[in-house]
Amino acid sequence: MQWQLATDHISVLGEGPLWSPSDKKLYWVDITSGIINWLDTSSNEHGQFKTGDYTGTIALTSSGKLIAAVGRNVELIDIAGNSVNIIASVEPGLDNNRFNDGKCDPEGRLWVGTMARSGIEGAGSLYMIGPDGSVQTKKKNVTCSNGMGWSPDRKTMYYIDTPTKKVVAFDYEAGAGEITNERVVVSLEKEDGFPDGMCVDAEGMIWVAMWEGWSVKRFNPVTGKKLFQIDFPVANITCCCFGGDNLTDLYITSAREGIAKDALPGQPLAGSLFIIKNSGYKGSPSFSFKG
Ligand code: CA
Repeated sequence: MQWQLATDHISVLGEGPLWSPSDKKLYWVDITSGIINWLDTSSNEHGQFKTGDYTGTIALTSSGKLIAAVGRNVELIDIAGNSVNIIASVEPGLDNNRFNDGKCDPEGRLWVGTMARSGIEGAGSLYMIGPDGSVQTKKKNVTCSNGMGWSPDRKTMYYIDTPTKKVVAFDYEAGAGEITNERVVVSLEKEDGFPDGMCVDAEGMIWVAMWEGWSVKRFNPVTGKKLFQIDFPVANITCCCFGGDNLTDLYITSAREGIAKDALPGQPLAGSLFIIKNSGYKGSPSFSFKG
């Protein structure tokens, strides 16, 4: 599988790629720059929306807006109408914390976790945000909340706390959004780097972006076995998602952040958005927030 650049725009901490089928745009965030980016794949035009704070993730909403995790707020953003409405907030007073990765579940709720801006161990939590703005704490004592995805039968939820070097699974009960029976499904080795964002394909296999790992790795979460990996010319691969008309193109985000200054000249493409066109694999449509 051969990567190309999807655009020549470079992010500091590119993350959270999201395919929007209605307008054929690929959205992604630049977390530390507080920017929502998009690439209009029909015209190849690149656009930006500035949020004003660290922006951990975005998701589509059923009303055609975006929902974004900005600082410690969850915001409904109408980019065309230039309006922002905060629908939920977490961790009042914990100014050192911020939202990181998140995704909508099959019921249209946003699952999003926090982490310390300074990386303090165990300072974050994982939350479930309902369409009414309700906030439920789902997991405590996480360091760098990442990953997330649901199996095609919607009975299993995957989750990554990056420094653990593991992908875990929970039994997921859709109605109340209960997660139980946490177990490890993939363990990474020292030389693999750190698991960051992930997506689930139509066969139920998981694609994990590897921070300091120069790759995306595809695993079978039932056996824990690595099926293959795709290598990139940059160390910090952050997340991936399927997009395009048939959900067969794989988009991959990356970061310049976290690379030593003297190593950056050797990674001129760090921070790029990559694409593997017609990957030979198919994704599942992402879930939208009910709102
Ligand atoms: Ca991440």
